Amino acid sequence: MAWRSSGATNAALVENMARNGLITSSRVKQAMLRVDRAHYTEQAPYQDSPQYIGHLATISAPHMHASACESLLPHLQPGSKVLDVGCGSGYLTHVLAELVKPDGKVVGIDHIQPLVDLSRGNTRKSTAGLDLLRSGAIRYITADGRLGWKEEAPYDAIHVGAAAADFHQELIDQLKAPGRLFIPVEEDQLQHIWVIDKDERGVITRSKEYGVRYVPLTDTPKPEH
Ligand code: SAH
Repeated sequence: MAWRSSGATNAALVENMARNGLITSSRVKQAMLRVDRAHYTEQAPYQDSPQYIGHLATISAPHMHASACESLLPHLQPGSKVLDVGCGSGYLTHVLAELVKPDGKVVGIDHIQPLVDLSRGNTRKSTAGLDLLRSGAIRYITADGRLGWKEEAPYDAIHVGAAAADFHQELIDQLKAPGRLFIPVEEDQLQHIWVIDKDERGVITRSKEYGVRYVPLTDTPKPEH
C-alpha cells in the first residue's frame, strides 16, 4: 500500500496517504499538509519511502511519520509537550509542533551534531518553521536521546525514530501520567513498534504493534580526530 501513495507534490502525497487509509485523522492530515517534505529531503521528497540524509540516517517514510502521529494523537493537544528522539531531518519534529499549536513545545534530540544542524536548517526554510523556532515551540538539542531530556520533562508524548535495544526506562520515567511513548524495539533481529502508555495513576501498559525497519538507536559516535 505504501508505494501507491507517492505523489508529484506534498499535497498529492498526503491526499494519497489519506485515500489509502494511511492517514485517518484530519488533524494529522492538516499538519502534514502544512509541512513541505521537500524542505527536509531533496531526494524524492514526495515518494512514500525513506530517503538517506547522511551520517547513516534516513528520513523515515511518510506513512511511518503518519502512523507515529496517529498513534500519539490523543496526547498531542494544544499546549502538549513532546520529545522527538532521533530527530534526523527535523521533519517529524516540525509536524509534531504543528499538532500541539498553540502553546505546545517539541524538543527534537539527535546525537549527531550535523543532523541537529540539518534539522534546524530545514525547519528554518519555511516561515512557519522559523516562527516555531523563534518562539521556542521547537527546540533542537544534541545529546544521547536514550536518556531522554530531563530539563524539559515530563512529556505528554515521546517519539523514538530509531530502533532501540530495550524500552529505556529513562524515557518511560519522563512521560507524564497520562502519557504515551512510541518506540521501535529490536528483539532477535526483528523490529516492532511498541506503544507504551502511562495512565493517570502511573500504571504502565505495553502493546506490541507492527513490524518495521529503522536505523538503530546507538552509542554516540566518538568525535573524529
Ligand atoms: N525521525 C527522523 C529519523 C532519522 S533516522 C526523520 O524521519 O528524519 C534516526 C536518527 O536517530 C538518526 O538521525 C540518528 O542520528 C539518531 N540516533 C541514533 N541513536 C541516537 C541516540 N542514542 N540519541 C539520539 N539520536 C540518535
